[in-house]
Amino acid sequence: MRLLLLGAPGTGKGTQGERLAARFGVRHIAAGDLLRAEARTGGELGRQIADYQARGDLVPDQIVFDVLIPAVVDAAANGGYILDGFPRTLPQATAGAALGARLDVSLQAAVYLYAPDAVLTVRLLERASQGGRTDDTADVIRHRLELFAETTGPLVPYYTERGILVAVNADQSPDAVTADIEAKLSKLSLPNA
Ligand code: AMP
Repeated sequence: MRLLLLGAPGTGKGTQGERLAARFGVRHIAAGDLLRAEARTGGELGRQIADYQARGDLVPDQIVFDVLIPAVVDAAANGGYILDGFPRTLPQATAGAALGARLDVSLQAAVYLYAPDAVLTVRLLERASQGGRTDDTADVIRHRLELFAETTGPLVPYYTERGILVAVNADQSPDAVTADIEAKLSKLSLPNA
C-alpha cells in the first residue's frame, strides 16, 4: 500500500495516517514530524528547519528531500508507506513521482482531506491550548492555511488528472473519516485495501 494524505493543517492527517499505517501494516511517514526531529538534533541544518517551521513557512525542497527520501525508499522496500504532508508542492510532487517511477514504488492513491478553514482554525487553536506545537498560534495558523491553499492546493487537480485522487470530508468525527477513507479505498481495488 502506497498512499499520500493531502490536507490543510488540522484536517487530521496525523491521526488518519497512524490508523491507516496500522490497518495496512506499513510505515506512517509524517513530513512535519521527521523535520521536527531533524530540527531537534541542532546544528545549522536543524536551526534552519526550526526557523521555517516556527514561521509556518515551507522548508526548502532540497532539505525536505534529504530528510524524507531515505525514509520513503526504505518504507517502499518494506511493504509500502502512508505519506503525511509530503509532497506539499508541485515541484515536490513531480520530483517524487519521477523517483517513484524509477524505483517502481509510485503512489497508488492520494487521499485529500478537506474541511472549512473556520473548522480547522478552531481545531488548531484547541490543539494549542492543550500544550500543542509552537506553530499553533493564531497568526501562524492563518499563514499555514493560506500557504496550503496557494501551494499545496494545486496538488488536488494534479492527482485528479492522474486518476488517483480520493476526496474525503474531514469535518466529521475521526472514526467517520477513517470509515470513509477505507470505503473509498476499497472501491479502488488496490492490493491490501
Ligand atoms: P505538519 O506537521 O505537516 O503540519 O508540518 C509542520 C511544518 O513542517 C510545516 O509548516 C512546514 O514548515 C514543514 N513541512 C512539513 N512538510 C513539508 C513539506 N513537504 N515541504 C516543506 N515543508 C514541510
